[in-house]
Amino acid sequence: MDMTFVEKLLAEYSDNKDVIPGQIVTVHPDHLLTHDNTAAIIQKITNELKEYGVHSKSLSIIVLDHVIPAASEKTAVNHKVIRDFVRTYDIKNFFDVGVGVCHQIVVEKGFALPGKIILGSDSHTCSYGAIGAFSSGIDRTEAASLMLTGETWLKVPNSIKINLQGKLQFGLSAKDMILHIIGDISASGANYCSVEYHGDVGQLSLDDRFTIANMGVEMGAKNAVFLVDDITTNYLNSIGISRSSYKPVFPDKNALYSKELEYNLSEIEPMVACPHSVDNVKPVSDIAGLDIQQCLIGTCTNGRLSDLRIVAQILKNKKIHPDTRLLILPASKNIYEGALKEGIIETLVRAGGIILPPGCGPCLGAHQGVLAPGERCLSTANRNFKGRMGCKEAEIYLASPATVAASAIYGKIIDPRKEMKK
Ligand code: SF4
Repeated sequence: MDMTFVEKLLAEYSDNKDVIPGQIVTVHPDHLLTHDNTAAIIQKITNELKEYGVHSKSLSIIVLDHVIPAASEKTAVNHKVIRDFVRTYDIKNFFDVGVGVCHQIVVEKGFALPGKIILGSDSHTCSYGAIGAFSSGIDRTEAASLMLTGETWLKVPNSIKINLQGKLQFGLSAKDMILHIIGDISASGANYCSVEYHGDVGQLSLDDRFTIANMGVEMGAKNAVFLVDDITTNYLNSIGISRSSYKPVFPDKNALYSKELEYNLSEIEPMVACPHSVDNVKPVSDIAGLDIQQCLIGTCTNGRLSDLRIVAQILKNKKIHPDTRLLILPASKNIYEGALKEGIIETLVRAGGIILPPGCGPCLGAHQGVLAPGERCLSTANRNFKGRMGCKEAEIYLASPATVAASAIYGKIIDPRKEMKK
């Protein structure tokens, strides 16, 4: 039987010859990601941990990234509980405050590999589809059970094939593309589906694919994946992982998809997701001129070096508008160091940017850059729900790094192409 990417991978992990959508399978994932919420999980299973210990010291990847450095006594205690747990159970893959956003770390440190299963108690765990892995978010209770047993069950998803055709125009990016697609499919259009990207994907760098896979969950997808090609293998080589260390999974030629969609990339314009839903997407031209009080560049969606390079090109020898604040979060310490070496940080600080530590920062509204009622923020993050940045009476608009950087100069949402050199 011909199978899609997810069907083949789940058949292999569950020791089945083949599987069909809707089938429940038991799997042993390669890794389990948790972050600051680990404390909440482990405090629910203290008795079981004492009796059985953790299933494997190398299964868990724990990253302190959401509220870092600690913003209150409560978050400081939370971090301490996790550090104690890591020491007591000799957890091998622990990344303390300042190393970066969990999803960036999983990819950068080589935990995400083609053909592997990584689950995480964070909805944007779907990001590692950029590498050709199956990765998906699970809830904390399920993560607790995985820590103890090393196994869980999954329902085999239906698969959607998205065929990308043509070339993105000058000044356009993966963020514009994925916002366009989510605006078309809707926030629930891929509910519990495995989304496979096909077609003219050779123009998309690993960073671009990361942005697109990261936002898979914003259309409801269980996972989103790019199949392994030279871009994947070159990236993995660059972080010291040889081709012999992984076994990519490819869909069969006659695999059955529940839906096939095609997008002409050359027709896409700079896009913005407007409040308060990621699928409320409009071309920038429809809302150009709207005042903004805060700009945010970073997060697991768009805080990579390639994003910061574009932002620095736009802001070089410019100043941001006096009525606008610009917050910048490199997605990891490595990226921060790269940006320092290239002079990007200097350019951004001179332009008026405020550099925050590598982590989630204002993205979830728990600290740093919380908005006031009536304020608008233009952000490169992946969510703009009411209250997401800490204030229910504020508005969040989502866009590409280029759109956010160019808009910061004017204090208004603008088409970034007028500030970019060919
Ligand atoms: Fe979640 Fe934002 Fe952190 Fe990404 S950067 S993991 S979306 S809080």
